[in-house]
Formats: sequence, C-alpha cells, structure tokens
Amino acid sequence: MDYISTRGNRGPVSPSLAISLGMVPEGGLFVPRTVPSLDYDFSKAYSYQEAAARVLGVFLTDFSSAELSSCIDKAYNSSTFDTGSVIDLVSPQSGISIMELWHGPTAAFKDVALQIMPGFMDISKKKTKNDSHTVILVATSGDTGKAALEGFKNREGISIIVFYPHGGVSEIQRLQMATTDGNNTRVVAVKGNFDDCQTGVKRIFSDTALRSELAGRGFEFSSANSINWGRLCPQIVYYFRAYRMLVERGQIRNGDPVNFCVPTGNFGNILAGYYAKMMGLPVAKLICASNRNRVISDFFQTGMYNANREFFRTISPSMDILISSNLERFLFEINGHSSSDIVSWYDSLGSSGTFGIYSRLKAQIDSMMLYGWVDEDEVHLTIKKFYEETGYVLDTHTAVGTALCRRLELSGTHTVIASTASPFKFSCEVLGSIEGKRCDDEFESIERVAELSKMPVHRGLDKLRERDVLHDRVIEIDDMKSCVVDIINSVQKQKD
Ligand SMILES: *Cc1c(COP(=O)(O)O)cnc(C)c1O
Repeated sequence: MDYISTRGNRGPVSPSLAISLGMVPEGGLFVPRTVPSLDYDFSKAYSYQEAAARVLGVFLTDFSSAELSSCIDKAYNSSTFDTGSVIDLVSPQSGISIMELWHGPTAAFKDVALQIMPGFMDISKKKTKNDSHTVILVATSGDTGKAALEGFKNREGISIIVFYPHGGVSEIQRLQMATTDGNNTRVVAVKGNFDDCQTGVKRIFSDTALRSELAGRGFEFSSANSINWGRLCPQIVYYFRAYRMLVERGQIRNGDPVNFCVPTGNFGNILAGYYAKMMGLPVAKLICASNRNRVISDFFQTGMYNANREFFRTISPSMDILISSNLERFLFEINGHSSSDIVSWYDSLGSSGTFGIYSRLKAQIDSMMLYGWVDEDEVHLTIKKFYEETGYVLDTHTAVGTALCRRLELSGTHTVIASTASPFKFSCEVLGSIEGKRCDDEFESIERVAELSKMPVHRGLDKLRERDVLHDRVIEIDDMKSCVVDIINSVQKQKD
C-alpha cells in the first residue's frame, strides 16, 4: 500500500518511508492512498496480538509477517502491559462500556502506540537503508514525554530528548520522566510554558543549517508525535478488539452498531476510530468530546475553525490544544482526497487562524459524529456521580467523554467510552472531585484512589517516589538549541 500527502506535494511512498520520514518534509501528512475493508471475523476469539497482526498487516505492506510479529511481541507482552489482553473493557453501567487503554508502562493510552512505533522505526530505517543516528525531539505537556521515553529507551541508533515546561507538569508527571533510565534518554526542563517548548522544538527541526551540519556527522531529527502514521495505525486495532469483546460477553450481537466516544485533543485517537469505521467496523456514531478548549467541537458545530481564542489550562491537560494536527487527515478523507482544499484551508489557518469548510462536509460530519464540550465543574461532578452510582473511578479526561455521553442520552445503542488515562495518574484532581478536599500530596492521593477504586496502584506509578532522579537539567528557552547540540556531541563521543 502506498501513502500520499494530504497536500499533494509528494509522490506516493512506501509504508516504511512514510514512517521513517514522519511527516511530509514539504508540509502535510501521510495517509494511505486507499483504505481497504478488513475481513475481520468477529466470531473468532483473536488475542490482541492476533488482532494487531490483522489490522497492521493491511497498512504496513512492506513489512514481512515475521517483522510485524516481532514488533507486536516486543510491544505487547506481560512486561509492558499489566493485563494479558493489553486493553480492558468494563461495563459499570448498562449500555456503556469503558475501554481502558491505560494498562501500559506510563498509565496513559499513548503507550499502545508508543510501545510499538519504535519497532516500526527500526525496521523502516533498515528498509529505507537509512543508517543515520536518529534524534527524537519531543515537547510535552506531560503524557507524551514519558510514553515516548519508555518506547524509545535503549533502542539502537536512536536517542530521545524530551523538553517539558519547568513547573508546568504535575509532580507525578515530572517524576515519571525524571526517573527514566536507559542509555539514550535525556529529559530537560525549560523555563517557559508548553508553547515555548513546542516552538523551540519546531525551530530546531526547521533549522536547515543545523540539520545539514548534523547530517554530515550522521545524525537526523525525527518526531514521536501523532503526525507519524506509525503512531496512528496501532490505535485502529483496539476499536476492532473492543467490538469483539462486546460480542464475546453477549453485550451486543455480531453486526450491531456501536458508538465510540473519545476524549479528544490532537484528534489522533478518534481518527483511528474513523479509519476502523472505514474498514468496515460497525460504528454507529463517533462521539468527539472536548474540554473547555473546545476548538474542535465549535468547528463541528459551525463549520468554521477558529484558533484565535484564549488557551485554558484545564484539569484534563492532555486535551488542552488549539491546533489539532490530525484533523487535516480527517478532512482530507471526507473530502474526496482534495489536496487543493487542504492547502487553501491550512494556508488560511496559518495566516489568519481560521478557515471554513463546505456545508456538504458539515452535513457529512453530522451524519457520522456527535460532538460537544464539557466544562470543569461538569467534569468534577461527573467523576463524583459516576463513582457514587457505580464505584468506578474515572480520570479527568475519561470524565469529559463520560459527561458528554450522559448529556447526549444515547439510549438504544451501546456506547464505548475510550478511557485515555488511569485515574491514578491524575489522582489529586480525581480525589478533589470525589471527596471535595484540597489535595496537597499527590502520593497520598494515589493511595487513597487505590482504596476508593479497590484497584491496585498502577505499576507505572507505584514506588515512583523511591526511584532515583536521573535527569535534573533546567535550561532557559533560548538555550534549547545549544542543549540539543551538546547532547548530540556527547552521543557522538560515546560512539567514537
Ligand atoms: C493525548 C491524550 C488525549 C488526547 O488524544 P488525541 O489523540 O490527541 O486526541 C486524551 N487523554 C489523554 C489522557 C491523553 O494523554
């Protein structure tokens, strides 16, 4: 299968080239040229790994089945995920299931993709005869950084540098990152906010003089963000797997349509659900849930994207975003692969912060999606009420989706809510919702969440306080580039 650019500025490329390039160097994102329907037999009890082989095999056509299996086995096993089924599905209330995607090493759903993507990268580099040393640069507001560190640590031929805002992530998130071991990981706090980190990373990426100097020394930059197809396609798997789990448990009959509700930020997770639907999964509605940074739900409501608005720091920080990169792929898919429209919309977004789509597209979106946004009071209240009614503890992101589903009154069709983070990861806010108390100590709150939820502490967070801090570098915003050069120099010394 070939991959094409959403902006029509690149000829078709192989899966391995799409993955090793990450994004289209001229701008734009790689998408499959066609999305085949998948002959997935829901009467068969495939394991998660078997489901992954079926779904990923459709997209990574230049990987041999042995290569694919080796990626799958290294990514999804009992040392990486704390449940044999990789994901879990629980139904605390009739008509609703919670698809727990956070059983990986860092307690957020990003592990499902970031455990396997480094394996794709290794193989893709070999296939494209790329023997550069890859330096993965990551700017994170918390979750992506740790998931990427865990995925890429100790990988041959790859180093990873994560920048996070100094004082701008939770204590749990900071310690998760700062205690990362591995011989190729660096974590750096930047005296600025997340946007400063992101802008700094983008500036380093687009520094052509630096890139060519490094290329001469055998180094190249890459990214671990969901702009890379290799991060997106592993997420399609769990939609199929969750559907089959519902059939297994007799909650639906094979063929019944199901709603999937996704707490959304960069639009990667829900886009994977859309691809699953295109491949033939019986999806009734995709439900897109935003927090107070409601740029996407406003876009679906009005047909106008408007990024000119205030940015809020909320209690669901992993959804705090004003530019959702994967929306570009979605619009390309529903608009007959028109790259000229994408170019004109994204030019307009770049110059004025806005663009509008055709009313026929808006109608198409309305036929397949429901959407809405939830403010923080409603998130707190939903966590509290859901706990009181069912005993199940939601995290602050999953609660955004749950709140929207309750408001929409989706009777009749079974609804699966994607649970994107473990409640332990955001236990201070979760406890604040349930017990109404101020939280001073995140570690005590983890213990209390364990009592309330009757679940063991997530093993990615257990004993976090006792682990050694291995990364404590703090730098000024303006020193990000020299910091990267420094690190690369030391990597080169080790190699020589
Ligand atoms: C990244 C993240 C999201 C948003 O997912 P997208 O794919 O960016 O839409 C939601 N919840 C949590 C906990 C996350 O880490």
